[in-house]
Amino acid sequence: MRKFISKAVRTCLDFLSPTTLTDAKEAQSKTIYKDELIEIVQLFTVGGLSANCMAVKDLTTSEVTIWECGSKLPNSEDISLCLFNKEVLQLEKKTIHMPDMKWLADNWNNICGFFISHSHSDHCMALPEVFGRIHLEKKGPRIDPEVFCSEFTKVFLEHHFEREEYENIKMPKINVIEEGKTICAGSFKITPFEVPHSIPGTFSFIIETAGKTLVFMSDFKFRLHKLNDKTAFEEKLKKIAEKRQIDILIMECLNIGRPGMTDYEAKVFENLKKILQQNENKRVFFTCIASNLFRIKKVIELCNEMGKNFVLLGQSLRTIIEIGQKMKLIPDFDLDDQPQSRNNCYLVGGSQGEIGSAMQRLGANEYGKFKIGKGDAVVISQSIIPGNEDHVKKTVMGLLDLGAIVYMPENIVINLAEDDPRHERLIYTDVHVSGHECEDGLKKLVSIFTPSVIIPYHGLMWHYHKFAEKVREWGYRIISLTHYEKRAA
Ligand SMILES: [Zn+2]
Repeated sequence: MRKFISKAVRTCLDFLSPTTLTDAKEAQSKTIYKDELIEIVQLFTVGGLSANCMAVKDLTTSEVTIWECGSKLPNSEDISLCLFNKEVLQLEKKTIHMPDMKWLADNWNNICGFFISHSHSDHCMALPEVFGRIHLEKKGPRIDPEVFCSEFTKVFLEHHFEREEYENIKMPKINVIEEGKTICAGSFKITPFEVPHSIPGTFSFIIETAGKTLVFMSDFKFRLHKLNDKTAFEEKLKKIAEKRQIDILIMECLNIGRPGMTDYEAKVFENLKKILQQNENKRVFFTCIASNLFRIKKVIELCNEMGKNFVLLGQSLRTIIEIGQKMKLIPDFDLDDQPQSRNNCYLVGGSQGEIGSAMQRLGANEYGKFKIGKGDAVVISQSIIPGNEDHVKKTVMGLLDLGAIVYMPENIVINLAEDDPRHERLIYTDVHVSGHECEDGLKKLVSIFTPSVIIPYHGLMWHYHKFAEKVREWGYRIISLTHYEKRAA
């Protein structure tokens, strides 16, 4: 492990050499919007990565705010897995992707704040790396900007900064934002508002600067749980829109091409209940994305209702569970209690079949003395993140070969002949809903805000092209995507 860390640090130092930092060809930033008052710069390569980091510059003062500071590991998407699954992080860290450090270094002393919408890794994971690398570069004194995020995200970030490899990095001041409470950061006035997503403490922001009003809409969906007031979030957005003309709407569009609106978590909860009932007195192995505390909470509650023991298997999810318990988001249970009973529901890491994860090792029958067998049920409560197909399929096939029943969502397609004995043990059912809004919801958002122009973020080029087509169809203006495809001058 130490050997690996030294390699990571060496990579970091290489990156910081003046040659790299001053080499314009290395820069990945692109100006995607510019008028006489503001400039918006995408600090990540657009089109190949789905990590997020964007700068809004007030050209009247040269002051800057940074929106998100994410990174991306191979074969992971909108997940906090890398924050929690140390094994995976160590295996893959050498390929960590960073926003454009040269741009950040050149503008560092004008940055009035890093604003982080939520704690998914592609929105915040690069933060310690960015602050660490900036200080290694020898270009005069640096004044560290402060970070702004929800209390939940702050706990995550503090944990992230405490990692062994970041021990020499000074953590910036992290401020907790609150619903509707405006922050003054240089010439920027920023008002956060909470949005439903698959992790608690997700916020979006109204940005006022240089006489313009922008909305930075982070990952969201309209419907989280089945609320009594189904339109609560919609009403909140309408109130925001009523009070101001929105010049620019920056928004995610990851679910473009998926019709309708993203469903409620309640639909998943109903199915999970049925599965647990059908497997009474049997072992159930449950996996979902680490950060989905809403779903983990529900499974714990269902287990408590049914008298089933809820057991943590492996260590990769321990941190998220500890944070969830500390913040009273999930019920208390003893993380070390491993009752010897067939009536256990195990929470297992590795919903994407990541190599080295507990689920992958169970599927490969390599989890020490712990073996999956006939009568066991496995619930994969997560869709496949593109790029992970082979890992997931291999794991599922392994689990089926060992005799388990596997419940999973329909987007994981495994072709088994009907006379294959494994066929009847592979059950496609609604055990997952997305944390991102689908096409009708994206349209609804646009029609509430009626912005003068739309800027897509968080996606690959095909998302942007598809989204641009739709936005024009809905009668709104989107920035030219050629800005994404050409380098800034
Ligand atoms: Zn997210």
